[in-house]
Amino acid sequence: ENIIFNGEIIERSKVNIDIEDRGYQFGDGVYEVIRVYNGKLFTKEEHINRLYESAEKISIQIPYEKLELIQTLEELVQVNQLDTGIIYLQLTRGSFPRQHGFPKSDVPPVYVAYTREMPIPKVSMDEGVKGLLIEDIRWLRCDIKSLNLLGNILAKQKAAESGCFETIQHRGEEVTEGSSSNVFIVKDNCLITRPVSNLILNGITRQVIIKLCQENGISFKEEIFTIDDLLEADEVFISSTTSEVMPIIQVNEKVISTGKPGKITRKLQQLFQQKIGM
Ligand code: PMP
Repeated sequence: ENIIFNGEIIERSKVNIDIEDRGYQFGDGVYEVIRVYNGKLFTKEEHINRLYESAEKISIQIPYEKLELIQTLEELVQVNQLDTGIIYLQLTRGSFPRQHGFPKSDVPPVYVAYTREMPIPKVSMDEGVKGLLIEDIRWLRCDIKSLNLLGNILAKQKAAESGCFETIQHRGEEVTEGSSSNVFIVKDNCLITRPVSNLILNGITRQVIIKLCQENGISFKEEIFTIDDLLEADEVFISSTTSEVMPIIQVNEKVISTGKPGKITRKLQQLFQQKIGM
């Protein structure tokens, strides 16, 4: 199996990560997950742009050109003969004797990327899944796609233990986002999602969905909504790179509307499939 290590494609078993890598010690780095459909990277520019933005927000300088990065990722997909799956990539602040403050500026970031086969979750997308409400205990820079994911993984684990697919996090009464997804509701034929701020990640799938609404005359607004709005919604779905448009048919004990994926959710799933050419 081939992977990318500091810009070069090499055999996975040849990679050594230092025990004082700041990603390993502090979660001091940023990452992206890019979908691969039929051997092609979906929304690659958007993901790479977000990677650079996340890095910039925590003052990591990426020592590669965007185009160079994309070309190597495409080469990796080819050599690994990946058809449908994902690319995971991450950059850490590099390796340096442990101290909280940043290392000297000449320490190079450590960059790795690898591929994994992952089918489209067709059954869940067709039937819908359950969500679990949980207080959002994360920090105040959730706009950064950082390796620090403790809040997110603790939330996801709670969902798994409750037989749910995803947690829907809230700060007080306001819904923020899933542990690894954005949240949408439909009320009176209007799609609603929370506006971007420091409290959520601006999902690439979220952005694709907004564009699909604009192109297809689906009424849409970015507005903060509450737990009550969510439970009383006509439709609920979450969005992410791996889950696309995933219907939520129950939240905690409350069945959403008829308990089936809704009309607009279905429409967006179809439009999304068209967009990715599947
Ligand atoms: N929010 C969080 C916290 C996430 O981890 C993710 C998945 N990366 C998303 C939203 C959805 O983002 P995207 O559509 O870019 O995968």
